[in-house]
Amino acid sequence: MLNIVLFGPPGAGKGTQSEKLIERYNIEHISTGDLFRKHLGEGTDLGKLARKYMDEGNLVPDEVVIGMVDEKINGSLDAKGVIFDGFPRTVAQAKALDSLLEKKGTSISGMVALQVPEEELKTRIKERGKTSGRSDDQDDEKIKNRIRVYNDETLPVANYYDMQGKLSKIHGVGAIDEIFQKICTVVDKY
Ligand code: AMP
Repeated sequence: MLNIVLFGPPGAGKGTQSEKLIERYNIEHISTGDLFRKHLGEGTDLGKLARKYMDEGNLVPDEVVIGMVDEKINGSLDAKGVIFDGFPRTVAQAKALDSLLEKKGTSISGMVALQVPEEELKTRIKERGKTSGRSDDQDDEKIKNRIRVYNDETLPVANYYDMQGKLSKIHGVGAIDEIFQKICTVVDKY
């Protein structure tokens, strides 16, 4: 399977690039943020639990996220591959993902990390907030907290894949298609 971790801070363009990648490589998309928003919209217990973390821009506890992804992966085992978007966000999640995939006889092919300066992220997130309807995209303090949480809790995940020789960094500023081409150059070598 072609299993890609698309990594980067909030506003880096993971969702946009995921859409293009699933089409190009005919693989499935697992976005934990989208899954949580779906649960929220449907008012499930999981959605209610996740809401208080999401509203503040904090991470939902690892065991909750991992359980949700485990269930989702089971439905994707026949796929050619999977893009993980917004997951893993902690080293504990990365380790859990490795063991989940190993049990299913597969593994992560590589991590593509989008690099975008902080000021650009804030501008993009606020712009997205005008149409996304997401409260966490509209409030300066929440945006700041999401970036802080990324720097403190999520960045070490890049190091985790780097140690396995699986990290590729891509400059994530510029035309969407140019960034996409750079990602494809990396993915084609997996
Ligand atoms: P996103 O759409 O990826 O920016 O995620 C929106 C929110 O969902 C985050 O700010 C977190 O509260 C929660 N979330 C999404 N993915 C994860 C994850 N892998 N681990 C913990 N919380 C997550």
